[in-house]
Amino acid sequence: MSGSECLSAAGGENGLRPPLAGAAAAFGSCAGFRLPPPEGDGRVFEECGPKLQFYHSLTQYWEICERNLWVLVVGRFPKEHRIGIPEFKYVANMHGDETVGRELLLHLIEHLVTNDGKDVEITNLINSTRIHLMPSMNPDGFEAVVKPDCFYSNGRENSNYYDLNRNFPDAFELNNVSRQPETAAVMEWLKTETFVLSANLHGGALVASYPFDNGVPATGTLYSRSITPDDDVFQYLAHTYASRNPTMKKGDQCKTKMNFPNGITNGYSWYPLKGGMQDYNYIWAQCFEITLELSCCKYPHEEKLPFFWNKNKASLIEYIKQVHLGVKGQVFDQNGNPLPNVIVEVQNRKHICPYRTNKFGEYYLLLLPGSYIINVTVPGHDPYLTNVVIPEKSQNFSALKKDILLPFRVQLDSIPVSNPSCSKIPLYSDLPSQSEATKPSLFLFLVTVFHIFVK
Ligand SMILES: [Zn+2]
Repeated sequence: MSGSECLSAAGGENGLRPPLAGAAAAFGSCAGFRLPPPEGDGRVFEECGPKLQFYHSLTQYWEICERNLWVLVVGRFPKEHRIGIPEFKYVANMHGDETVGRELLLHLIEHLVTNDGKDVEITNLINSTRIHLMPSMNPDGFEAVVKPDCFYSNGRENSNYYDLNRNFPDAFELNNVSRQPETAAVMEWLKTETFVLSANLHGGALVASYPFDNGVPATGTLYSRSITPDDDVFQYLAHTYASRNPTMKKGDQCKTKMNFPNGITNGYSWYPLKGGMQDYNYIWAQCFEITLELSCCKYPHEEKLPFFWNKNKASLIEYIKQVHLGVKGQVFDQNGNPLPNVIVEVQNRKHICPYRTNKFGEYYLLLLPGSYIINVTVPGHDPYLTNVVIPEKSQNFSALKKDILLPFRVQLDSIPVSNPSCSKIPLYSDLPSQSEATKPSLFLFLVTVFHIFVK
């Protein structure tokens, strides 16, 4: 794929182009890497340091149709993970006709790059965080839009006519749709990094929606919701985004008769769906993800783009900072060896797939201020419990740092590499599926008729 195609994927042929040439330039030219000739003016390239950014294409893992899924990484050490620096990501445009998110990410790239070293908050953010930005997960869908429309255009699905936000494995019921290249690429990508926090940018509504999108009675579906053990954190995350967007926080601004108090909702409460990306991130990738619906109109006119940037800029930045909630550290055995793949969980908030340390023995737990007991489980040993108190006023740009030294030696080859409790899909197969039984069928029928699926 050539650079011009990369920039075309970022800008498109259908009316929506990034109004800031520098954003396109940043996306294609700022790195000090061998790059195709930039179509932008190169301004950002000259202003940023050679180590600030690099970009890669997911096609190093998967070939994807005609167009690649591009990810730009912004950070002080963008090429690789550094111990203690959490990984954050934004993914936009998985529905190709929902275009605001992809443009916002281009604006965000330019904002981060041009304010590094000038703005204290942005500089601290880049110093402390590795930020992965994928402006389009569905470039084929975006290019397929013939007639942009606020409510429905073709291009929601990928070129094989699959909805990518119904295409992931589902923890609650069998999802036997054909796995699409874009989905497979993202699933592989999630294995390559220890992502901690993420958001998935959509359009067609105005709300911050948090997991689960699907569920069973054990997660609360009999009460028309489906909540995670980390519901307090997810509500806080959604509220962090919505409360800084002056329109979103008012709720029901799209006149859809949906009441979203404070601009947030549980995904299942809004409407259940199977195979969504946010549930997959939380369950299988140890990454807290929420779904952001950013505009009532899915594909607004380009003149509206500065309006959306102004409404979302503060939210986008504040949300990234939340990757520093809670506690982080490494787990060592008695000899000081870092222990990969051991379970580190907080008591009373066990995950369906237990969260484990990465290859450096690191753990990241997003938690609100309070007192918790961390449980470290190594095969062949009793669980090791340790207290942690997250202070009321969390430090800026770093979670509380707490390394855990276990009082015993561990044979590294005694720790299984895979996660045996997560090998079965769906994980709740022995429990009855509720998404069919409890979904508000009249509502779903109506939205199907009127093509107003959003998330
Ligand atoms: Zn969507």
